[in-house]
Amino acid sequence: MSKQIEQKEQLIQALIAGDYPDSQGRYGPFGGRYVPETLVGAFTRLEQGVSRWLDDTKFRAELNAELRHWVGRPTPLSPAPRLGERWGAEVWLKREDLAHTGAHKINNAIGQALLARRLGVQRVVAETGAGQHGVASAAACARVGLPCEVYMGEIDMTRQAPNVDRMKRLGARVVPVTSGDRTLRAAIDESMREWVSNPTDTYYLLGSAVGGHPYPYLVRELQSVIGREAHQQIIDQAGGLPDVAVACVGGGSNAIGLFHPFIADRSVKLLGMEAGGHGSGLGEHSATLVHGRPGVLHGTYSMLLHDDDGQIQETHSISAGLDYPGVGPEHALLAATGRATYLAVDDNAALDALNECCEYEGLLVALETAHAFAGAREYAMKNPGKRILIGVSGRGDKDLNTLLEHSS
Ligand SMILES: *Cc1c(COP(=O)(O)O)cnc(C)c1O
Repeated sequence: MSKQIEQKEQLIQALIAGDYPDSQGRYGPFGGRYVPETLVGAFTRLEQGVSRWLDDTKFRAELNAELRHWVGRPTPLSPAPRLGERWGAEVWLKREDLAHTGAHKINNAIGQALLARRLGVQRVVAETGAGQHGVASAAACARVGLPCEVYMGEIDMTRQAPNVDRMKRLGARVVPVTSGDRTLRAAIDESMREWVSNPTDTYYLLGSAVGGHPYPYLVRELQSVIGREAHQQIIDQAGGLPDVAVACVGGGSNAIGLFHPFIADRSVKLLGMEAGGHGSGLGEHSATLVHGRPGVLHGTYSMLLHDDDGQIQETHSISAGLDYPGVGPEHALLAATGRATYLAVDDNAALDALNECCEYEGLLVALETAHAFAGAREYAMKNPGKRILIGVSGRGDKDLNTLLEHSS
């Protein structure tokens, strides 16, 4: 074996052994915690809280009860026979679109809200881009009885007005962010500032598997319920493991949740689909792993879309939930080792896949999710007769306005 292949194999073995994150919050060369001095205390307290509670028997029982009776878990694994026939494949769908609030985000939000209550904070702050994580956070905080403030870029507030209203109805205060790019990136910065201004009384509920340690770990653990259920369900219902598991990747939370319980099953290919937007040029896509380079954003060392001067690039995707210039550090390691493969599909391919899924399976999936369907379809065309597991991260009702704009 060449030295490079040997090194990759060692990293994969460490992934399988569950060695990541290590005590520094690293996933091989990626991850860690790159935060200003003012945030160190808050992150340290959070890390202590996570190791105190996450595996605590009573906390687990409480979380499992909420997942079952309030979120609606386990979500079904649906066969997709008509798509399968068209694609020449056996297709199975893990249905996070059927979870409360219509996407996987609630798994993370309720878990962190319960943690926040255990930590005895007075309020929760959360960031949101398109509003999906804001809605999930507002719902989860109402459920556990904690006040919730959602920071949202003022550009996003205009684009996603219905979600602003949903958050308010769920009792959250929505705070417009007028600094920076006035979208998700600035909203994350602002939430961190809010957290640091009152770190003992405030909990920061981060929405994806990104950020400084322990967030990528915490979010992975909370989202892995997707893959654990799917692993058991596909064995029970299909009689064996899939050949490939496919998910869309924004920050990477639904994908790591689906992939993680399959990492040790080396026969299962892991395929992450990024947003190819409308081109591979600067600012035309948000395919971080496909086009990016290593760098630090929001406290973690991972792959990133930035230029030679370290300036973060503008990003574009038809799906707001994939429109982020970074990606979780564990995905960066999965990509670097080759244990998972990441590809980009463009806006039009995602739209086609969405329409096909509506027409042949009666499912209006989210535009983010449609990227996973497009990737699965491409895989099926090249590899006939395979068993394909697709992570359906959410439903598409929220996207009807965008779809109207693109159907002419
Ligand atoms: C937010 C969102 C995503 C992208 O976030 P990840 O952290 O990458 O999972 C994907 N699908 C849906 C439906 C979403 O709401």
